[in-house]
Amino acid sequence: MTENHQGANTRFVHAGQEFEPVTGAVVPPLHFSSTYAQDGIGGLRNGYEYGRGTNPTRDALQAQLAGAEFGTHAFSFSSGLAAEDSLIRAILRPGDHIVLGNDAYGGTFRLIDRVLGDWGIGNTPVNMADEAALAAAIEKNKAKLVWVETPSNPMMTITDIAKVAEIAHAAGALLVVDNTFASPFLQQPLTLGADIVVHSTTKYIGGHSDVVGGAVIVKDAQLAEKIGFIQFAVGAVSGPMDAFLTTRGLKTLGVRMRAHSENAAQVAGWLRERSEVERVLYPGFEDHPGHEIAKKQMSGFGGMVSVQFTGGESAARKIAESTKLFTLAESLGGIESLMNYPSEMTHASVKGTELAVPVNLLRLSVGIEDPADLIEDLDKAFANL
Ligand SMILES: *Cc1c(COP(=O)(O)O)cnc(C)c1O
Repeated sequence: MTENHQGANTRFVHAGQEFEPVTGAVVPPLHFSSTYAQDGIGGLRNGYEYGRGTNPTRDALQAQLAGAEFGTHAFSFSSGLAAEDSLIRAILRPGDHIVLGNDAYGGTFRLIDRVLGDWGIGNTPVNMADEAALAAAIEKNKAKLVWVETPSNPMMTITDIAKVAEIAHAAGALLVVDNTFASPFLQQPLTLGADIVVHSTTKYIGGHSDVVGGAVIVKDAQLAEKIGFIQFAVGAVSGPMDAFLTTRGLKTLGVRMRAHSENAAQVAGWLRERSEVERVLYPGFEDHPGHEIAKKQMSGFGGMVSVQFTGGESAARKIAESTKLFTLAESLGGIESLMNYPSEMTHASVKGTELAVPVNLLRLSVGIEDPADLIEDLDKAFANL
């Protein structure tokens, strides 16, 4: 059992991870069964009926996720976007409105704008740092949901969660925080006033680039009931193997995040000294506009670094295609370093919108390799410019 006063690593290792009662197996087993025998009609054993509704391996992950984020209930899904879709459909109805950050993850904007938009959900992107604009957008649209990503993907903008929670609540809206970039090791939005946390567990929580998944975590029983109903009725649940791998990843999140954060600080510092670099977007720098807020609401600055090149698009493309340890690939948060060219890759879907990403920008997911090797890899790539 875990208690709220316990440290992050204790919660990651122990929440929902009681040993198996029959054999004493220390690791909760992987249950593949899609259905459960009934002791007479309706005679369920511990509520287990059918795999879409409940699965012990998924339950273990959900308890672990709730513990990680100081929530009361967590729901695990087959992807981050499946989690977001289920969350939005659980609490909004046609005619309702979402105010979201104007640098939201491209896939989140595509879901909200191009999928849910057709079903009557409106949206207004705003600069979350502009409190007056945020309050006005909520008021004007009678928004029910405010959606924040901090740090944001890939512009590394920091939003003051406690401040935005106050503004949202004053107008009767709920605050959702996408905590994918920070992870629950560095930031716990529910303790800062957010109502709902979402994750792409594909990223830092899974942590090894070997499983796709998503999660929604709340601290309110009524919200939990609505989300649990959609999870069950729509069925975008994580499969047992995915849940098992995600649980294994979450246990080591703390040690990984420390390594990611240390390495990213070194890589960001090295990049900043290079004449080919126009700007490094990294909240650990004292002159980053969100640095003070990041220091207040995060316990570290994380493993993500974005960099813009003076040589424009061609320089960014050349670096992206010439590193060896940094693999050119979508996604982030795994133990291996990845490089991404957002305007053509992860954020291609927001090209031409106000959420478009600069064409001279690369996003680095700094892994846990030895930082000297990562810097040498970058140094060799820079020699090609
Ligand atoms: C990847 C990502 C998502 C979407 O998650 P999937 O698991 O790819 O569906 C949502 N938000 C952020 C910040 C992400 O990086």
